[in-house]
Amino acid sequence: GTSAAKARSAVLEEQILEEPGRFRVLTGDRPTGRLHLGHYFGTLHNRVRLQDLGVELFVIIADYQVLTDRDVADHLAERVEELVLDHLAIGVDPERSTVFTHSAVPALNQLLLPFLSLVSVAELNRNPTVKDEIAHSGQSAVSGLMFTYPVHQAADILFCKADLVPVGQDQLPHLEITRTVARRFNERYGNGTAVFPEPDALLSEAPLLLGTDGTKMSKSRGNAISLAADADETARLIKGAKTDSERHISYDPVGRPEVSSLLLLAALCQGRTPEEVAADIGSAGSAVLKRTVAESVNEYLAPIRARRAEYARDRGYLRRVLREGNERARAVADVTLAEVRTAMRNHY
Ligand code: ATP
Ligand code: MG
Repeated sequence: GTSAAKARSAVLEEQILEEPGRFRVLTGDRPTGRLHLGHYFGTLHNRVRLQDLGVELFVIIADYQVLTDRDVADHLAERVEELVLDHLAIGVDPERSTVFTHSAVPALNQLLLPFLSLVSVAELNRNPTVKDEIAHSGQSAVSGLMFTYPVHQAADILFCKADLVPVGQDQLPHLEITRTVARRFNERYGNGTAVFPEPDALLSEAPLLLGTDGTKMSKSRGNAISLAADADETARLIKGAKTDSERHISYDPVGRPEVSSLLLLAALCQGRTPEEVAADIGSAGSAVLKRTVAESVNEYLAPIRARRAEYARDRGYLRRVLREGNERARAVADVTLAEVRTAMRNHY
């Protein structure tokens, strides 16, 4: 569960500081719309922090996976470029890190066949995140792609043998499936050696940031504050966020989830604790809380937004970053696929 993953993340943080070069990170997003504060404090911030510590970083733009819960992939090329832009704006350095699209690495997808054979339908059926997403997708029929996408993610993570995956809380069940796939592959085909690592999730301090309606902030739920929004829109959206009627502001994530998520957001932007932010506001009520949050977010994002606008002027550069990332990812995938084929050939 989440508390075990939090404890594990704390242990990992120590190991990363000791020996960052030992770790390889794979994480990413679907090009289904603009990245928001939930992404930023749930995973994006960790990506850059790890990169800057000296961890090798792979960022996948999961374009194939758009089709899991969308009928059509609208404006795909544009949205892919927007994701590249977001990553450059927050500080991902394409000289050191690899940003690539799923569809550009066919060898990655060839891992699916053996991987799908290693999990049961019952195991896929139990995945709570897939259930939740099906419930929110409004689709009447569940596609095979929706049902199996955690295994596709296993291929995304394992093709580059990543051992660290900075993600939000919703991804924990998927990471479990990835670990199962890696373990079973090694057991069945490894012949005593580990072909794949069993990767760990790395949770941030905000593994589940809430949106303006009090549920998980999500691109597809109309409750998000996007990184690319301007200061006025940000203030307007935060002003409309759901809170409760109690005037005294206190940090209580279980009893007061909406107020607490806002406090956490301000705290992360200010580099303080949510309790300290709550103490500042005291009994001034949620209007003052929201004003504080909006100001903190806008101040924190100002340099990121400025860099984003800067990079947005050079579309050619964005495309070059992606082209080079795709090349690097393809080379890595080819090596892994060859290894997988050898291991399986030796087995049969
Ligand atoms: P969609 O609605 O299209 O599924 P999403 O907003 O849920 O989009 P994803 O692309 O599914 O975003 O998630 C990308 C990454 O961001 C994952 O690691 C996920 O855990 C993390 N993440 C997304 N939303 C949040 C959130 N509200 N709080 C913390 N982490 C989040
Ligand atoms: Mg999602």
